[in-house]
Amino acid sequence: MEIEIATIGGYEEVGRQMTAVRAGDDVVIFDMGLNLSQVLIHDNVETERMHSLDLIDMGAIPDDRVMSDLEGDVKAIVPTHGHLDHIGAISKLAHRYNAPIVATPFTIELVKQQIEGEQKFGVENDLVKMEAGETMAIGDSGEVDLEFVNVTHSIIDAINPVLHTPEGAVVYGLDKRMDHTPVIGDPIDMERFREIGREGVLCYIEDCTNANKKGRTPSEKVAREHLRDVLYSIEDYDGGIVATTFSSHIARVKSLVEFADDIGRQPVLLGRSMEKYSGTAERLDFVDFPSDLGMFGHRKSVDRTFKRIMNEGKENYLPIVTGHQGEPRAMLTRMARGETPYELEEGDKVVFSARVIPEPTNEGQRYQAEKLLGMQGARVYDDIHVSGHLNQEGHYEMLDALQPENIIPAHQDMSGYSSYVNLCENEGYKMGRDLHVTRNGNLIQLVD
Ligand SMILES: [Zn+2]
Repeated sequence: MEIEIATIGGYEEVGRQMTAVRAGDDVVIFDMGLNLSQVLIHDNVETERMHSLDLIDMGAIPDDRVMSDLEGDVKAIVPTHGHLDHIGAISKLAHRYNAPIVATPFTIELVKQQIEGEQKFGVENDLVKMEAGETMAIGDSGEVDLEFVNVTHSIIDAINPVLHTPEGAVVYGLDKRMDHTPVIGDPIDMERFREIGREGVLCYIEDCTNANKKGRTPSEKVAREHLRDVLYSIEDYDGGIVATTFSSHIARVKSLVEFADDIGRQPVLLGRSMEKYSGTAERLDFVDFPSDLGMFGHRKSVDRTFKRIMNEGKENYLPIVTGHQGEPRAMLTRMARGETPYELEEGDKVVFSARVIPEPTNEGQRYQAEKLLGMQGARVYDDIHVSGHLNQEGHYEMLDALQPENIIPAHQDMSGYSSYVNLCENEGYKMGRDLHVTRNGNLIQLVD
């Protein structure tokens, strides 16, 4: 059976991930992501109203025109998890393919919300839920199956999809860390990866994000203990404490909510995306928040909540807000600029349970937000976080488990690939032979 891989997006950048795998006449697309920084760099861009071609020209969504060079029919579109760099282009591209979108329940719900917000295209692809550990047949050959293997990442319900073919498995390895104590959900299913490795892996497509970092990525449990340590240490403070984190990081939000309660403060989630992700996770029973936990997204209800906090005393509350990267329109930045009824005072604590995404726009915005917070007298607790991506030893363990015949590095630019290429070459792979470093828009024929 012919096996061919189209590396469509995310092979020159972090963002706009999209890859297609053809097995005979059947094609499966993995991810359709958005490169948000290409959007945010322009003021006032409303992607909801924009046409796909303009977004492709901006470098914001994958240029899927290479799909016309790939024979066969698309049978499924498979986003691996709910981060925007994996699902953010579905509302712009999925309608071009007559295929269902297949994903885990939390991811499907986020895809659904995104499609509902789309104003340019009518996206009518079927939405099909499939859980980690399940398998579905692809096409009519009876020889190709899609399996979801449970992985751990900085968002719940993440999987690595595996396409089983007569030539071996194609394992799509974006994004994960090896977490055996993940706070929410099951540990990564290394046993299944090792089994798949023994059955034979034709190709492993891997996210190289932290390949330059030595050692192992710590578990979410480590970030949780770090957070506990910080919040317990300021338990006796009788002024304002504010926390911020990735709103899609439900495990972290859960830890913040629990520790707020432990130190005698009422947690409250503020900001549009806080309400969206946590509300969705709670509705789907991924997390059991206290029944009186407030979640407010709209400006008016947020300001009303801030007024209530100021009236009843800041020492009784722990607002958990958006704005960990210093995004100009996010809640924490508005607080820092004094645009909300919440008044920061000398000695108030601001807890960043996040790391700055190393990218000039983020670094600049975050610097500005921290400076503004500092001008109001706030004390900043930074970097209470663990990454969602594998470090070197995790990458080594994955190669050891899967023993792939071919490797395609992904999810980085050329400099980001270099450490992963070194690791693979040390393990006996060779660039140009079985290690395929590539760019956006290429086709790689693995089996003729
Ligand atoms: Zn991700």
